[in-house]
Amino acid sequence: MYEKARTLVEEERVELVDETSKRAYLEVEGSQDTYGVRLERDHTFSCTCPYATMRGIPQGALCSHALAAILHVANSQGPWFGP
Ligand SMILES: [Zn+2]
Repeated sequence: MYEKARTLVEEERVELVDETSKRAYLEVEGSQDTYGVRLERDHTFSCTCPYATMRGIPQGALCSHALAAILHVANSQGPWFGP
């Protein structure tokens, strides 16, 4: 799944829509659909993909879209990732 997330970032299928110091909102183009991912600075996230919304995924487990979103904002060094 980490590999998949990296591929999403490398293929530039992750787009930063909005970013503040508290949260970031991104759109990730998955294999079948585009999903909205919201990252909070308190390390919670949400994603609109079926994996994340179906039953809620276990704590600490990320879908590849959320992971790709995190990698993207980490690379960009924007306000969300800042101190
Ligand atoms: Zn997802």
